[in-house]
Amino acid sequence: MAKQIQAIRGMNDCLPADTAKWQRVESTLRQLVASFGYQEIRTPIVEMTGLFKRAIGEVTDIVEKEMYTFEDRNGDSLTLRPEGTASTVRAGNEHGLLYNQEQRLWYMGPMFRHERPQKGRYRQFHQFGVEVYGLATADIDAEVLMMSAALWAQLGLSEHVRLELNTLGSSEERAAYKEALVAFLEQHVAQLDEDSRRRMHANPLRVLDSKDAGVQALLAKAPTLMEFLGEESREHFDTLCELLHAAGIEYNVNPRLVRGLDYYNRTVFEWVTDSLGAQGTVLAGGRYDSLVGQLGGKDTPAVGFAMGIERLVLLLDTLGKFDDLPAAVDVYLCATGDGAVAAGLQLAQELRQTLPGLKVMSHCGGGNFKKQMKRADKSGAVVALILGEDELKQGLVTVKPLRGGEQSQLSRDELTEALASLVQA
Ligand code: ATP
Ligand code: MG
Repeated sequence: MAKQIQAIRGMNDCLPADTAKWQRVESTLRQLVASFGYQEIRTPIVEMTGLFKRAIGEVTDIVEKEMYTFEDRNGDSLTLRPEGTASTVRAGNEHGLLYNQEQRLWYMGPMFRHERPQKGRYRQFHQFGVEVYGLATADIDAEVLMMSAALWAQLGLSEHVRLELNTLGSSEERAAYKEALVAFLEQHVAQLDEDSRRRMHANPLRVLDSKDAGVQALLAKAPTLMEFLGEESREHFDTLCELLHAAGIEYNVNPRLVRGLDYYNRTVFEWVTDSLGAQGTVLAGGRYDSLVGQLGGKDTPAVGFAMGIERLVLLLDTLGKFDDLPAAVDVYLCATGDGAVAAGLQLAQELRQTLPGLKVMSHCGGGNFKKQMKRADKSGAVVALILGEDELKQGLVTVKPLRGGEQSQLSRDELTEALASLVQA
């Protein structure tokens, strides 16, 4: 036998046992954004490499070591998108969606990062995200956070996630803070790990984000950005906190939350869970008022977030939230004998039409009733319908409940009535 070719490490198939979980999450997300009046944007999976370098920043994990970059046949450097914001801004600028306009957008799709695959961390993964343009005030920051809180409530996750919140101020405030931070780090350089030493000058804020325990201990004594905020930034943050309070959303102000991408300013946040081990951040985002200008558009305030769908599905699965997923089939139709196969296929189709939403599977492939009933049971259906020569003659259908109950013979009208209760809302 020929050797089988395997999937690429860190890039997963989503098999039928899991697709129903994904579909439930995806449809919840679509309904959620629709209820807020947001519109979908779809962009290509591949972009010019320069877009991500410029948007995300050269001294970031993503650009330094995680991008799938290749030369295409023309010699252009292209990259599989590692995140969705850069592409959204690129498309918005290119099509004039952002210029003096207000946009509330969302997207969902695969992203690619060459990371070490582990639970909750993959090389192809999926993000759902929202991006809002043209609104500078804290009410919209509050809205996107309320949207995420509404999502947790709908999915039964409110008790399992918590909100970490911070502000990064303006670029001037950050510059002043960076100086103070670098001065502090220089005094304690012996306690820094290699990554932090390298980043201390190139991108000092990223040191705050270090996963090194020694560095984290040291940072407890470091100056915080809060001390460097000007009046406007402070007010923006205070207003956001008040709005969250009014909305009943609890949060923890975490001065060391900086996010791994360079484009953020003012508000940054993460929703984290303790139920997924090290990969605990489910959703992350913030304000990025300078990115549109940085990518060649007119300066436009912006705020958004991205959520890892794998982590969300994993969390829901861990908590048993998919235990009530319905089977793929409600009704399994068995038929044998002259004319019964044709009549069965037709009956199944009529039931699909009269009872929209009912999932009807026709037995195919022949075999006696015993074999057909085994298939019916395996399908997960609640009811088997049996159509044989006798039934055909009498114009009846035998209805056999598969999960307990009495067998009966029903006319077509009675059948429709009996099956109506199986239709999922
Ligand atoms: P992390 O700190 O876990 O590496 P990040 O800061 O790189 O996350 P973002 O770029 O902000 O994450 O992406 C937003 C969300 O996308 C994350 O919170 C996470 O849920 C998800 N995500 C990011 N990278 C991966 C990955 N490699 N595999 C699966 N999900 C991911
Ligand atoms: Mg990362």
